[in-house]
Amino acid sequence: MVLDRNIYDNLITELTKDAVTLVAVSKIKPPGDIRKLYDYGQRDFGENYVQELVEKQNLLPGDIRWHFIGHLQRNKVKYIAPFVFLIHGVDSFKLLKEIDKEASKNNRVIQVLLQVHIATEETKFGFDENELEDTLKQADALKHIEIKGLMGMASFSEDQTQVAREFQALSELYKRHQQAHHFSILSMGMSSDYTLAIANGSTMVRIGSLLFGARTI
Ligand SMILES: *Cc1c(COP(=O)(O)O)cnc(C)c1O
Repeated sequence: MVLDRNIYDNLITELTKDAVTLVAVSKIKPPGDIRKLYDYGQRDFGENYVQELVEKQNLLPGDIRWHFIGHLQRNKVKYIAPFVFLIHGVDSFKLLKEIDKEASKNNRVIQVLLQVHIATEETKFGFDENELEDTLKQADALKHIEIKGLMGMASFSEDQTQVAREFQALSELYKRHQQAHHFSILSMGMSSDYTLAIANGSTMVRIGSLLFGARTI
């Protein structure tokens, strides 16, 4: 599908009212599509696969802020450590340690979000409440990462009450830790549920298909 400028502009207007940041999720979409949105003014893009992200980063303008939003394997951190802007889905302390190590090698501090498991599906990743607390404590020792906040994905469900409840739970968890850990980013909401996410306190939405059209694979 074509990238409709009106859809983009209207979305930005809507998000700006609530001071919400848009991460345009460009996974599987060609670099030309990203370039088009870039020309509309978009700078934050999200990718799920390491190799694809590295290839696109090489081809596209250097002022793009690349977000890694997929499930990151420890042995692949090194490929994105030189340039990644924010890693959303950190779901283990081991992964956090690896990011810290690779950030140090690159003389960087890498910004991350800890992923919290809020959905009913077991297949989704993330910490539970207690693991989150332990991880935040342990992370104090890591000097090359900065935990900016939390990320979560709601259940894949038509039940709006259920989805809202999950966002609310994550938002409460976020608020509980916000001051002590200087959190500023709560990443929740996708094409199908971003309005509910914003109503429940999201500060950053990850939107793909609404902008780029449905993914065929
Ligand atoms: C693909 C993906 C999105 C975007 O999904 P859409 O439904 O296309 O908006 C957001 N977050 C994550 C983690 C994703 O993998």
